[in-house]
Amino acid sequence: MILVTGHYDSRNSTNADTHAEAPGANDDASGVAVSLECARALTKLKLPATLIFVAVAGEEQGLYGSKHLADRAKQEGWHLEAVLNNDIVGGNRSPGDKFQDPHAVRVFSESVPASAPPEEIRRILQLGYESDSPSRELSRAIADVARTYTGRPAPSALDPVLEFRRDRFLRGGDDSSFNQDGFAAVRFTEWREDFNHQHQNVRVEEDIQYGDLLKFVDFDYVARVARLNAATMAVLADAPPAPVNVQYPPPPQVFTNALNNAAIEWDQGPGAPAGTHFEIVWRPLAAPDWQRSIPAERLGAVTDGKFASTAEGHFSVQIPVSKDNVVFGVRAIDAHGHRSPAVVPWPAPRPARPE
Ligand SMILES: [Zn+2]
Repeated sequence: MILVTGHYDSRNSTNADTHAEAPGANDDASGVAVSLECARALTKLKLPATLIFVAVAGEEQGLYGSKHLADRAKQEGWHLEAVLNNDIVGGNRSPGDKFQDPHAVRVFSESVPASAPPEEIRRILQLGYESDSPSRELSRAIADVARTYTGRPAPSALDPVLEFRRDRFLRGGDDSSFNQDGFAAVRFTEWREDFNHQHQNVRVEEDIQYGDLLKFVDFDYVARVARLNAATMAVLADAPPAPVNVQYPPPPQVFTNALNNAAIEWDQGPGAPAGTHFEIVWRPLAAPDWQRSIPAERLGAVTDGKFASTAEGHFSVQIPVSKDNVVFGVRAIDAHGHRSPAVVPWPAPRPARPE
């Protein structure tokens, strides 16, 4: 399941003011429009995954709608792989702003998962996986989609700028509700916001127009954001499920099995179709995004000289790159190049999460 959302409530200068007009054109009718447009475009396709198009209420009062939905997804055990939250994606055409970029959108993702218990957080810090939460791998997958479908220089180009932070400084949004419940979720927000046009009563003061009015929304920009959301949903839906049980062998083999190599094993995700391939990606520790990739079948297996081990759907490879200096990931890929988000290998056994 892949979910796209925005919030349909809006607010005035104070949340207590429930009577004055609060158009909320950018915050967040723009995000609702993205969700609706994804539904219009994608329901024409037959895709091997469930897409969920949502608009939630009560974001401004405390993320109520998204919390309700995320809790329901958790309780009902939804296999929810990605949540795309669009909040303030109107492109803000405030007159006089010379620094707005109509071809960039920020994509915020959490570092250490909000849902991680203390033991898992200790392990993440020990392994140097602070930048490899499922949400962050989702943001890298979005960047990968953009390189294929929405890159510059086309007039419809939109570059996702990966923001390695849970949300904008000291602020939050509906993606947090899903993060809290253990789901991968990111937030799309325009390049430059204008606080005169959000969370404001509609009024003119000293010749300045306040209020979240439709005239400040850049419809072409919203369309670009919708295009990136829709392409991401379609690619993730078409891609095979991400690999599971991705791991290094347990100590001491993780060390003795070639210190300057990495042996990685994994199982194909549940329901992976025939013809699912895998690739190993990696990046130097200081690099934000994957820099190298190699098809797994081009690497030697750890034990028996074959790529696939004896067990059905279980794979292992050895790669001559030191795990001390890079972060590895494994992603599933189909014949057309649709890729799952990457999954980083943990040393076996991985600490269990309390239910
Ligand atoms: Zn909002």
